[in-house]
Amino acid sequence: MQGDVCVCVCVSVFQRREETNVDATVYMNFMKSHCCYNAIPTSCKLVIFDTKLQVKKAFFALVANGLRAAPLWDSKLQRFVGMLTITDFINILHCYYRSPLVQMHELENHKIETWRDVYLQSSNHFLISISPEASLFDAIYSLLKYKIHRLPVIDPESGNVLHILTHKRILKFLHIFGKKVPKPAFVGKQIQELGIGTFRNIATVQQTATLHDALSIFVERRVSALPVVDEQGKVVSLYSRFDVINLAAQKTYNNLDMTMQEAVRRRTCFFEGVLKCYPDETLDTILDRLVKAEVHRLVLVDRADVVKGIISLSDLLQAMVLTPAGIEALLS
Ligand code: ADP
Ligand code: ADP
Ligand code: AMP
Repeated sequence: MQGDVCVCVCVSVFQRREETNVDATVYMNFMKSHCCYNAIPTSCKLVIFDTKLQVKKAFFALVANGLRAAPLWDSKLQRFVGMLTITDFINILHCYYRSPLVQMHELENHKIETWRDVYLQSSNHFLISISPEASLFDAIYSLLKYKIHRLPVIDPESGNVLHILTHKRILKFLHIFGKKVPKPAFVGKQIQELGIGTFRNIATVQQTATLHDALSIFVERRVSALPVVDEQGKVVSLYSRFDVINLAAQKTYNNLDMTMQEAVRRRTCFFEGVLKCYPDETLDTILDRLVKAEVHRLVLVDRADVVKGIISLSDLLQAMVLTPAGIEALLS
């Protein structure tokens, strides 16, 4: 009997020591030891656009296929030259919108290549891609370094695009296949203690502001989503760059004078309300919430629902994977 008790105590002490000693580099090692090919789903839809396609048709094609982005093929150069994402749709609307009474002829007339001639004058773009053999660590590094959300995986032999990797896909892969990886102690700490996220100068939009105001903030601040707030600064909803595609789906892009309240009401919504978190919640809880809801960020609020920060998948991958490798603050 005494022997049994003794064995029991030894095991529990051993387990506790193992938990607290787990190295903070565990997620970094996981990402270094898995390649991009591992994270590609067995089946998925991929659409490729020729740069001679009209931009308007391209965005309608994204909507029709339920996709968020597509690689761009230049048939003259016979290679992929870039990506078309919802951010490009936002840039076009922001550039050419005047009022609901003025038709945006440029949206009708531009081909992808002619729009890129205009757009690439102000931003020096080239295609950022990755090989299927490269590690997920390298994929995370590219996503964060270049501040993009879509990373095409291109087979160097065939030149074919195999998949478009995102932060969400990588985190989901960790969630599914990283279950056997022992959890490091820091995931049990509160988010306020860890300081993961952005806590200052949060870009928000008033619910009474116009959709055009929101697009201007997207363009100027380059943020991926805006908490929609009331006069007290309390979050009432969230409008992400993804939601702008609804304007193409519903052909309402000619009225950007509608209020944010109206824009939120009209979108095809994934969720009722806002997915939030509180400063005293643990990283573990936050990771779980993000993965289950399949969203790119949580809004950090106080108990009165006033916006205090944003915790995005970029922040988490920086803190969990790049910082332990000595790569600091690619996001600043
Ligand atoms: P979104 O969040 O709307 O999907 P991104 O943040 O990925 O868009 O894109 C921002 C800008 O960078 C867009 O103009 C887009 O065309 C460009 N871009 C996105 N991914 C890549 C890539 N892999 N290579 C080159 N440019 C890219
Ligand atoms: P993406 O896959 O392009 O990164 P997002 O995660 O930004 O897409 O958005 C997908 C949908 O989820 C959008 O309708 C967006 O408004 C919604 N959404 C994203 N984050 C939140 C959040 N924290 N609370 C409520 N809805 C959210
Ligand atoms: P993301 O574009 O969401 O992958 O995030 C890139 C960086 O921008 C992260 O550090 C986020 O915390 C930050 N960020 C995202 N949305 C906002 C916002 N609305 N205001 C301020 N920072 C943001």
